[in-house]
Amino acid sequence: MKVMSEKSGKSMRKRSDKLKGLQVITSQGIKFRHPMKDVHTASMIISGCGWVDTDDGIVLIDTLINKKAAKTTYDKIHEVSKGRIKYIIYTHGHGDHIGGCEVFMADKPEVIASKYLPARLDKYRMLAQHRNRISAQQFDLPEIKMPEKQIARIYSSVIYPTKTFLGEMTFKLGDKTFELHTTRAETDDACWVWIPEINAAFVGDLIIGSFPNIGNPWKPTRFALDWVKALEEVRAKEPEIIFASGAGIMYRDDDVSAVLDANIEAIRNMHDQVIDCINKDIHITEMIHKIQLPDHLKNNPHLAFLYSRPEFFVYNVYRWYHGYFDGNPANLLPRPEKEVMDEIYKIIGDPEKILNSAKDLFDQNQVQLGLQILDILIQADPENINARKLRIRMLKKLGSRDYCLMSRNAWVYFIKKDKKFIRSREKAKTN
Ligand SMILES: [Zn+2]
Repeated sequence: MKVMSEKSGKSMRKRSDKLKGLQVITSQGIKFRHPMKDVHTASMIISGCGWVDTDDGIVLIDTLINKKAAKTTYDKIHEVSKGRIKYIIYTHGHGDHIGGCEVFMADKPEVIASKYLPARLDKYRMLAQHRNRISAQQFDLPEIKMPEKQIARIYSSVIYPTKTFLGEMTFKLGDKTFELHTTRAETDDACWVWIPEINAAFVGDLIIGSFPNIGNPWKPTRFALDWVKALEEVRAKEPEIIFASGAGIMYRDDDVSAVLDANIEAIRNMHDQVIDCINKDIHITEMIHKIQLPDHLKNNPHLAFLYSRPEFFVYNVYRWYHGYFDGNPANLLPRPEKEVMDEIYKIIGDPEKILNSAKDLFDQNQVQLGLQILDILIQADPENINARKLRIRMLKKLGSRDYCLMSRNAWVYFIKKDKKFIRSREKAKTN
């Protein structure tokens, strides 16, 4: 896989420094910026929002991830801007964009979102336990099993939109026009905003400052083709400034076309490669290794594999267009994986053979293949401590060269799990 070099990381940081505008950083780590007349932004590590002043009140776009950050931002808004927040626009229903909304409701705003956003919030409530588990893997968080009461309390403060729409919607407030466009992109409820008077686009997570998040191993599919069409619509507006990723990232001058062109070409090119592979009946496990970014985009600073990665992109586009069946009759109605591994294990008949073979592959730097061979042993004999210890070494090796946040966190999560398992068995022995 391509990794971002230290050098390109530094040059990215240098460029974004240039765009900060007047910047204030609070003790909570929230950065307040005033990059242009009538626009302010607030951003923290994984979340951001922006607000636009008009001569008849304020429009807030996204609401940060939690109420604490939202309260600090609410106070800041009323310190530097005039009037009340009359509208809130959700760029989509991810928690880092809607989590702080309750605080801003003190101003009694209209909350506008895609028609599909309420169903997303319902889904999050319905799958709360599952989402806690996968968040632990994706973000390297503690795995918490929440009591139903606590879940109910958390979700009771989620603010649903007061007005929804699909397609295009325009409203005016004071001296500004807000053109809202829904699309399917990272989510099915995405909405990007165009403000013609200031030539500014707020695009939510259509752009995240690195390789686009088209593909997340834990989540339903993203919408690559609609995503790229939305970015092409944004480009057609010829924006002077783009606020992305909840307004935590901004682009102006030459960077606007650079970031749009890079994202558009990457998505179109890789999407079309997947289509070609599907039509040629290439197996998905071959496809994820075969498809790559075009050479001239591989070191593009707007496409570093910091959050997602090409393999996830390929799986994602494949899953959108393709059913689960991979063309192998053995996989049409498969027996449980554990049952199959038990049988293979019995045929091999010797755990040492599997262990040695996996170790050889590891030594030959074929770590992923070794991991899959070792899996026969771990599934058939989960108590095999040597197999667990070898798996820890393999996962550490995979993690050590992995710059993608999602896969790196997954390796770390399963290392911790294996370590915990080994500790529990050692403790049982000494007792
Ligand atoms: Zn998002």
